Amino acid sequence: MLKTYKTLLFDVDDTLLDFGAAERAALRMLFDGQNIALTEEIETQYKWMNQRLWQSFEEGLIDRNEVVNTRFSLLFKEYGQEVDGCLLEQKYRSYLEEGHQLIDGALELIRSLHDKYDLYIVTNGVSKTQYRRLQDSGLLPYFKAVFVSEDTGYQKPMKEYFQYVFDRIPGIIQEQALLIGDSLNADIRGGMLAGLDTCWLNPSMKEIETGILPTYQIQTLEELYPILQIERDSAVIC
Ligand SMILES: [Mg+2]
Repeated sequence: MLKTYKTLLFDVDDTLLDFGAAERAALRMLFDGQNIALTEEIETQYKWMNQRLWQSFEEGLIDRNEVVNTRFSLLFKEYGQEVDGCLLEQKYRSYLEEGHQLIDGALELIRSLHDKYDLYIVTNGVSKTQYRRLQDSGLLPYFKAVFVSEDTGYQKPMKEYFQYVFDRIPGIIQEQALLIGDSLNADIRGGMLAGLDTCWLNPSMKEIETGILPTYQIQTLEELYPILQIERDSAVIC
């Protein structure tokens, strides 16, 4: 017997929007501006560095400003350029804001869900960027509210972040809420800590880490239809 949910909380990056595609396009523009050709090696190096910085942020070791304002000065240093990390971050941010490629089936899914569930966005990131990408992708109107970590003062997986969200969703019943996201730490562990059921979008079938147990695990957004017992909205998307 499937559980009936009323409230659905969606992560954004790599759940509804393809962050990798937006990131690649933004990096290419940034490197073009510095007259360095972006190679696969540089991209890998950046991702590794960036991931480590965000991990330190999620662990509470450094603040967000340190992540975003040092990542490019650190990266370009590797390639012999002294750059203004803050300035490059601003440029990168404006390029990134333009990237709003949808994950397969995301818009169709959200359209199918929005009149049957209360939909909310729960995302770690920069507020202006996330709003713009949600707007440009056509997703924004279907959500009752958007909770970007930057606006809350906390971030997933912190309990305080979810408390902030619960305080702002009128009449939420946690037992009837489901969190859907791709990050095992931020979304699934965060959701568990906050007492929510969770659905892990795991397209590459990564191994589960000990102690973190999602309520559901899916490989594509498509698999949410039977879990939520809804029919696809087949209306033409203009
Ligand atoms: Mg994500």
